[in-house]
Amino acid sequence: MFTCDNLGVNGAGHLTFAGQDTAALAAEYGTPLYLMDEDRIRQCCRTYLRAMREHFPAGSAPLYAGKACAFGQLYRIMSEEGMGIDVVSCGEIHTAARAGFDLANAYFHGNCKTDADIAYAMDRGVGAFVVDGAEELDAIEAEAEKRGIRQAVLLRLTPGIDTHTYEAVNTGKVDSKFGSAIETGQAETLTAHALTLRHVDLAGFHCHIGSQVFAEDVFERAAAIMLEFIASVRKEHGYTARRLDLGGGYGVRYVADDPVLDIAAKIADVAKAVKDACARLDLPEPAILLEPGRSIVADAGLTLYTVGAVKHIPGYKSYVAIDGGMADNPRYALYRSRYTCLCANRMAEANELVCSVVGRCCESGDIIQEGVSLPGGIRRGDLVAVCTTGAYNYSMASNYNRLPRPPIVLLSGGKARVAVARESLDDLTRLDL
Ligand SMILES: *Cc1c(COP(=O)(O)O)cnc(C)c1O
Repeated sequence: MFTCDNLGVNGAGHLTFAGQDTAALAAEYGTPLYLMDEDRIRQCCRTYLRAMREHFPAGSAPLYAGKACAFGQLYRIMSEEGMGIDVVSCGEIHTAARAGFDLANAYFHGNCKTDADIAYAMDRGVGAFVVDGAEELDAIEAEAEKRGIRQAVLLRLTPGIDTHTYEAVNTGKVDSKFGSAIETGQAETLTAHALTLRHVDLAGFHCHIGSQVFAEDVFERAAAIMLEFIASVRKEHGYTARRLDLGGGYGVRYVADDPVLDIAAKIADVAKAVKDACARLDLPEPAILLEPGRSIVADAGLTLYTVGAVKHIPGYKSYVAIDGGMADNPRYALYRSRYTCLCANRMAEANELVCSVVGRCCESGDIIQEGVSLPGGIRRGDLVAVCTTGAYNYSMASNYNRLPRPPIVLLSGGKARVAVARESLDDLTRLDL
C-alpha cells in the first residue's frame, strides 16, 4: 500500500510520516499542510552524490532542479549536502542567495531570459548559464563584455529523443520549445557562433529529455547522441567540451504499481554508456552533470487536508471534498497525475468507498484524484493525506480563489519545524494598493 518507506501506521491507526503521527501534526499546524521529510531529502541527495562521485570523472555533480520545490531552508539543505543547483528565475536565484547558497554552483536555465535576468544573475555571480539560443548568447556576450568578464555557458541542445511521457513534460524532441536541435544543424551553428565570442566561455553542452522517465535506456541514448555531437564539433572546430549535462527526469513512485528506480544503478548504467561512447569516439570523458528535481523531493513530501464534505450521488459517484485542492496541487488538473490518497486518521479501517477526492476551488476540474478507495465511514473532520507531493506542488501553488498557501513543516529525526509560514489573509492583500 505504501509507496515509500517513510510512511507507516501507528497503534492509534494513524498514518505516520517520517516516523511522526500525521494526525498530531495536523492538530498542531492546521490543514492544508505540506510536510517534508528532511532526512529523506538528504538521503536522496547522497544517493546522487555518492554514485556520481564513484562513476563519473572529477568535476561531475548533481544539480538540484529548484523548480520542483524551492524555499530557503531547502537551499540550505542543498548547500549542506554539497549539491549544485539549477535555477530558472531571479526569484529562485534570490531565494538561494538569501539562504546562503554559493551561486558559483548554480546553473541558470530558461528559454526566455530577459536582459534584466542576465544582468541580475551576473551580479549575483551565478556560475554558468544554460543558453537556449543565439539571441540569448549575444545578450550574454554584451553583458559580459560590459563587465569585462568571460561568462561560462552550456548550450542546451535537443538530441531528438521521444520519452513517451506526457506531452508537456517531454522536452528532448526536435520540435521542442527548448534548446537547439542537433538534427537540423542549428546546434552546430550555435556552437560555431559561441566559439567566436570573446566574453563567452563555452564549457560544454546540455540536454534535458523529459520528466517522470522510467524508460530503460533514454539517458544512455541521449548521452550517446550528445557525445557524437561533441566528437563532431571536436573534429570540425577543434573544440573539446569539458562538461556534459544530461538534465533531470528520473521518475518516482506515485502509486504502488509505479516501478521503483534504483538511481545508483541507473547512474552506473549511464556512466558505462558515457565511457563506451567516449572510447568509441576517441574522446576525453567530460565531467557529467545531472539535474534531478522530482527524484530528490517528491516522496519526501506529503500533504494533509481536512475533509469538509462527503457527497454520495446514488447510482453515480461519491465525492470527498477537502480544504485544499488545485491551488496547492494543480497536477491532476494539469496532467492527470496519479497520487496515493489515504485517510490519515482511519488507517486501520477497510477502504470500501470508491470516490473522487476533490478540492474546494470553484472549478469542476479541481480534482486531486479519481477512483480513490477510502474508508466507508469517512466524514467531515477526517484527514486525507496525499502522498508524494514534494515535487511540483508548493512550487506550482497559486492563490486561486484567494486561498492562502499552506505552510511547509520540515520533519527530521522525530522533530518538526516550520520552514515556510502559512500565508495569512493580510499576506493576500499586502500588494493591493
Ligand atoms: C524540469 C527540469 C529538470 C528537473 O526534472 P525532474 O523531472 O524534476 O528531475 C531538470 N532540468 C531541466 C532543464 C528541467 O527543465
